[in-house]
Amino acid sequence: MSKLKNKVAVITGGNSGIGFGIAEAFQQEGAVGTITGRNQATLTHSVQALGTSFIGLPGDVTKMADLERIFKDTFERFGKIDALVVNAGGVVDGTPMGAIMDVTEGSYDGYMDLNLKSAYFTVQKALPYLNEGASIILIGSSAAHRAAPGMAIYAAAKAAVISLAKGLSLDLLARKIRVNALSPGSIDTPAFDKMVPQEQLAQVKQVWIDLIPVGRMGLPSEMGKAAVFLASDDSSFVVGTELLADGGMTNIS
Ligand code: NDP
Repeated sequence: MSKLKNKVAVITGGNSGIGFGIAEAFQQEGAVGTITGRNQATLTHSVQALGTSFIGLPGDVTKMADLERIFKDTFERFGKIDALVVNAGGVVDGTPMGAIMDVTEGSYDGYMDLNLKSAYFTVQKALPYLNEGASIILIGSSAAHRAAPGMAIYAAAKAAVISLAKGLSLDLLARKIRVNALSPGSIDTPAFDKMVPQEQLAQVKQVWIDLIPVGRMGLPSEMGKAAVFLASDDSSFVVGTELLADGGMTNIS
C-alpha cells in the first residue's frame, strides 16, 4: 500500500542529493507536491525525473519573501500541505567550512543563516498552510554528535536544528502537527564535490568510509525511506525526536 497516497509535500532543496532522494521516495509512495532550489536547471531536470507528481518552485530559503511565495503557490496549486521536509542547507556557496582563524563574521552568519535561521523560518512560513496532522521533518546531521575538524559552526547549527525539532514539536502539538529531525551521517551527494577539490574527493570519501561501521557511505534513497517513515502514519507516535541514519557512525564506531 502507498504510505503517502494523496499527501502533499514540500521538500526544500529537493533538486539535489538527499532532498531529491526524499522526493523520489515520496513520489514512489504516492505523494505529490513541490521541490525547491535556487538552481533552475537542476530544478527543471529533477521535476522531469519525478514525472508529473511534483512541481519545481525556485527560491532562496534565506529570503523570507521566497519562502512565503513557495508555500502560498503550493497551497494554491494543491489545496493543502501534509508534509514539510526542511532539507536545504549544508555548504554555503563559495564559503568552505573552515578552521576558526579562517572564519569571518560574514561566513559565520552565512552558515547560521542557511542551516539554522532558514530552518526556523521555513517552518514559520509554512505553518499557515499546513494541515492538521501534518508532519515536519528537519534535516539535522550526525555532525551534531560527532566532531570533525573545521566543521564546528555547521555542527553547532545542526545541533540547534535538532533542538528546534524538540521545541517546535511541543509548540505545534495543539495543531496535531508532528515535528522530528532526521540526521544523516555521511551520504554520497554533490555536497562533497562542493567541499573538496576533485583530485582529493576519493581520498576524502575513503576517510569518511573508514569511520562508518557498515563500511560505506549512505545513499540519498536510504534517507528517502527514513523520511517516508517520519512523514507517514507509521510514525504517528513519534514526536519531537531525532532519527539518526548514519550507518552506526555515531554510536557504535
Ligand atoms: P546538496 O548540495 O546535494 O544539496 C543541498 C540542497 O540545498 C540543494 O538542493 C541546494 O539547491 C539547496 N540549497 C542550498 N542553499 C540554498 C539556499 N540558500 N536556498 C535554497 N536552497 C538552497 O547537499 P546534500 O543533499 O548533501 O544536503 C542536503 C541536506 O542534508 C543539508 O541540510 C545538509 O546539511 C544535510 N546533510 C548532508 C549530509 C551528507 O553527508 N551529504 C550529512 C548530514 C546532513 P540550490 O543549490 O539549487 O539552491
